[in-house]
This record gives sequence, C-alpha cells and structure tokens, in this order.
Amino acid sequence: MPVSTQDLDAHHAPLQAALAAAAVRVLQSGRYISGAEVAGFEAACAEALGAAHAVAVSSGTDALLASLMALGVGPGDEVVTTPLSFFATVAAIVRLGARPVFADIDEATCNLDDGAAAAQVGSRCRAAIPVHLFGRVASVPQLRARCAALGVPVLDDAAQAIGAVDAAGRSVGQLGTAATLSFFPSKNLGGFGDGGMVLTGDAELARRLRLLRAHGAEPKYHHVVVGGNFRMDELQAALLGVKLPHLPVWTAARRRLAERYREALTAAGPVADGRLALPPPDPGAVWNQYVVRVRGGQRDACRRHLEARGIATAVYYPEPLHLQPCLAALGYRRGELPVAERACAEALALPLYPEMPDVALDDVVAAVVSFFAG
Ligand SMILES: *Cc1c(COP(=O)(O)O)cnc(C)c1O
Repeated sequence: MPVSTQDLDAHHAPLQAALAAAAVRVLQSGRYISGAEVAGFEAACAEALGAAHAVAVSSGTDALLASLMALGVGPGDEVVTTPLSFFATVAAIVRLGARPVFADIDEATCNLDDGAAAAQVGSRCRAAIPVHLFGRVASVPQLRARCAALGVPVLDDAAQAIGAVDAAGRSVGQLGTAATLSFFPSKNLGGFGDGGMVLTGDAELARRLRLLRAHGAEPKYHHVVVGGNFRMDELQAALLGVKLPHLPVWTAARRRLAERYREALTAAGPVADGRLALPPPDPGAVWNQYVVRVRGGQRDACRRHLEARGIATAVYYPEPLHLQPCLAALGYRRGELPVAERACAEALALPLYPEMPDVALDDVVAAVVSFFAG
C-alpha cells in the first residue's frame, strides 16, 4: 500500500463538526484579530504546557524573531545555535543583524553537542538557541549552566517538540528563558495555516512580546518600540483550541509507532551490522519525525528504493545552516562541523503520523529491510 508522511484528512475527520462550529463562531463574531479566541488559546496552551505565560504569534518563525527582539538581540551580538535545523532558527538571528555562532551536533541525537555549544558562549554572546529537533529535548546542561553564569538568555526552539519532556520530566516550555512553538500544519499540533507561540515564565518578557507583536504600540497609535505584525488570527486560535485537548493522544500514538519502528528495525540485519542507525529511544520525545541514518553513502538510493514501493520519505535537512549560500559571509567552510554535515548526508525521515496504521509501518520496515538485503 502507498504510505505518505502524514494523513491530515484522517487526522481531522473526527473533529470536523467541532472545527466547523469553531470557525462559524468566529465568522459570526465580527472579531477577527486580538480577541477572546486568541486569549483563550493562550491560556489553554499555558495550562497544558506548564508555562506561566503564552503569547500567540503569527508563526514559529515570528516567535523566534519576536523573542530575540524582546531579548534585545541586535547588531554585533552573537547567538549560539545548531547547524542542523530549519532555516527559520538562523534567519531570526541574521535578520536582527546578529551573528550566528554554530556548535556541532551530537552524533546520536542530532541535537546540539552540549560541550561544544557551551564552549561557544563567549563575551559577545547575547542568546543561545537549542533546537529540540524531531521532537526530542536537547540535553544541554553545560550550555544552560554557562548561559546562566553569564546572564545569557536561552531561547528553546520547540517548533518540533510541543509536549516533549526532558529526563527530569520538565516540559520544553520550562527549560529556558522562553520557548517557541510552531503550528505549521506538519507540526505535532498543526493549524490551518501559519501560527506560533512563545512560552515564558518571565512576565516582563511576555509583556514586551505582546507589545512587539502589535507594532510596539501602547496605547494604540503611540509606538514606543518598532515591532511588527506578529499576531495570530482569531480563526486560527479557535481551530487550534479545538485540537489542543487531543494532543496527548496524538503524542502517545507517535510514541507507540516510534517504539514499533525501533523493535522491528532492531530485529532486522542492517542495524546490527551498522549500515542503518536508529534514533536512540527517549520516553519524553514526541517524534515529530522518525529519522534514521543510512550509512555508507546509501541514503538517496534507499530513498529511491522506498519511493519505488510507494513509500514517501523526507530529508531533514539536505544542507546544514552554516553552508547555506546566503550565510557565506559568515565564513564557515565544509568540514568545519563534520557531525552535522554527515547527518545531512545520512538522515532519512520515515513516515510517522498518529493515524498511521500498523500495517503501513510494517510495509515501511519491510521495504527498508529489502533495500539492505538487495
Ligand atoms: C517549523 C520550524 C520553525 C518555523 O516555524 P514556522 O511556523 O513554519 O514559521 C522554526 N524552527 C524549527 C526547528 C522548525 O521545525
């Protein structure tokens, strides 16, 4: 059977009536911006994710940008982050005139290497952005300790990790100064368009974010800072509010499927002989993606093998951030962050979404195994 990377029709089918009712409520309210729907969704997110403050914004990208603006990051500042993330992470830094400083990643988890990241926090560092890639909390105690010692804020990019917890049971919104979420449709809590959120325990930071997301006006038409239009729509908030209570069930389904992949692929040959590496188990991860590593330069061939059998896959990410053409002026060269560069050549995301039938997962496993047998 053909296997896709997600099935949003199946995902939303049980919620159709509730989603339609929420949409009609907003359409008939006459209020489409900055009203009760956004406020209600913020409160629900803060409650569900254990954060004191939740500020809804227009996207995960704008959540990062507005957060760095609220933290006062600007020209000449350095921001330590990972070379393996979606482009938005680094774009937020560069758009403010600050300089991204990359540390290499950990071979097994693909998240920041803690020691390497901590070592990059120097006197010009004004923020660090660990990314909780693929839904796994980045374990970076040294980075957090060094930032705390120097008064450097830590902004957690949790776009792929809503609901994820670390080994101590702390949720992604409770780890640093603030955490950003994305509600892009392919994220674990996906909207019907773009949306994002900033979670923080810092009331003053939350206040600045609310100011910045509405052009820095206080009161209206009196602009005390230059912000942007970073607002979430009422319609988006209402629809996301219908979905949020179901997130724990969807997360549990993702965890079960990840475990099924691990068991089935571990029992097969290519893992034992090192040609295929699996993501390490992690009970707190929320598995936005299930990314395996195909060694020996075989990733693209493996991908084609699966595609020929009707199985969709994805590559996150084909090029690391430090080698992106628009960042050439930073002066990074190929070979400088070898672990991240190797991950870009080996990573392959296998289909995993909450409604994925077990038989579909078993088909993917059989196809992967047949690639290595052939
Ligand atoms: C999706 C994503 C973003 C950006 O979110 P958008 O809502 O698409 O703007 C930022 N960082 C990471 C790691 C992401 O996966």
